[in-house]
Amino acid sequence: MADFDYDLFVIGGGSGGVRAARVAAATGAKVALAEDSRLGGTCVIRGCVPKKLMVFASEYREMFADARAYGWDLGDGAFDWPRFSGQLNTELDRLEGVYRGLLEGSKVEIFDQRAKLSGTHEVTLADGRTTSAKHILIATGGHPVRPEMPNAHLGMVSDDIFHMEKLPRSILIVGGGYIACEFACILHGLGVEVTQFYRGAQILRGFDGEARGLIADQMQERGIDLHLGTNIVEMTPAGSDHVSVPVEEGMGPPATETPAPPEGRPGDPVWVKASNGMERVFDAVLFATGRAPNTRDMGLEEAGVKIGRRGEIVVDDFSQTAVPSIYAIGDVTNRVNLTPVAIREGMAFVETVFKGNPTPVDHDLIPSAVFTQPEFGTIGLSEEEARDQEPVEIYCTSFRPMQSAFAGRPDRVLMKLVVSKETRRVLGCHIVAPNAGEMIQLAGIAVKMGATKEDFDRTVAVHPTMAEELVTMKSPVRTA
Ligand code: NDP
Repeated sequence: MADFDYDLFVIGGGSGGVRAARVAAATGAKVALAEDSRLGGTCVIRGCVPKKLMVFASEYREMFADARAYGWDLGDGAFDWPRFSGQLNTELDRLEGVYRGLLEGSKVEIFDQRAKLSGTHEVTLADGRTTSAKHILIATGGHPVRPEMPNAHLGMVSDDIFHMEKLPRSILIVGGGYIACEFACILHGLGVEVTQFYRGAQILRGFDGEARGLIADQMQERGIDLHLGTNIVEMTPAGSDHVSVPVEEGMGPPATETPAPPEGRPGDPVWVKASNGMERVFDAVLFATGRAPNTRDMGLEEAGVKIGRRGEIVVDDFSQTAVPSIYAIGDVTNRVNLTPVAIREGMAFVETVFKGNPTPVDHDLIPSAVFTQPEFGTIGLSEEEARDQEPVEIYCTSFRPMQSAFAGRPDRVLMKLVVSKETRRVLGCHIVAPNAGEMIQLAGIAVKMGATKEDFDRTVAVHPTMAEELVTMKSPVRTA
């Protein structure tokens, strides 16, 4: 132990890295952590937390309308982006301070600079200092990627959304995953005219088909102009002609005769030609076309760490890399890219390495939520996945919930259970409804425990709620 400067050096101060550093330090280990950006990482600084606050902000529009239907005398308010984003930044500063305080309180030494590997037990900091550690943990996360096409630099990525000085009047969002769908709903709620292109047949690939269909319908119903099977084929900076054209009139022909030079910055107005023939100017374009692990220029391969085809660090069940002294957790390993999973991986690493209790990470039956409007909470197998695996019964109901129906809104919610015919276990639970994220956290406990359909049925309904349908669905809508 005395041969090394530290017992553990963590590279990356996001949710996973900070948790691992703190918990390792609590065992008495001497721990250091390097972060070249802000402590808190993607989740706290440019992901889950500011996104969720934007979701809250965006939901008020419908709440104001509903409030009137419920008898409140309210006018149409306007949304003040600078006011909101100022408060948002203050909150992020506070949270970053909390993270720093937690590390300092745990006696973790913090280096506010970039660090890379320079050996199997060695880390070199940006200021040139070299330090050694018995164990090194890579928790550098990932970054959003733009598609490879001319002028792609004109499109924003999710990181840029939080730094916008003003809201665009119109935006084109490219992609059909979590980030694309969440920001389509958020920006629509904040009053931006949203167009969304997804190259596939239905958004949210990989999730339950019926749930995807309902979310897409509800997004369109609310006013998001969703184009499936559609992608950008060409984009250029909007000429001065285009910049001054009001959104509604921006459908005219582009200035193809005198194309604008390839210049401009992310978030500038862009002329777009789409695969479906649409040509128009958008105030801004957002690429939500996936994320890639932060493994470049880290000295990883030189140290013997194996990198996979998508640029991810290859690890075993204990998050150990091909180099025994080097471990990796979180998005940089591209396993299940969710904050709570990175935290679990960090805890399991400490349990394994510092508490002598080898603990593999359990990646089975992870509940998650997509914060669209309506929200989507899901755990386990989709109907499509389950059908491929074994005979199943499908219990499903879709209805207009009381609260929005009273306000005259056409919203629908969906409650669905995928049940094994043989074992009766609930293999999947899918909820599309306001607060579905909260619901699936609780339903997820039952599913993770191996609850059967009959266990659900034995539970008395909580009335009147939306979630009571989960325990009152008597007959399968189909078997497969
Ligand atoms: P996803 O991988 O979920 O989605 C990327 C989308 O972009 C897909 O629809 C994909 O299409 C499309 N796409 C990829 N390349 C291109 C291209 N060249 N042209 C057009 N479309 C393209 O990534 P996200 O960025 O949305 O999210 C990354 C991860 O972050 C998620 O997987 C999730 O783990 C995590 N996350 C979780 C959240 C939550 O828990 N609520 C919120 C936000 C992110 P196709 O389907 O055809 O591949």
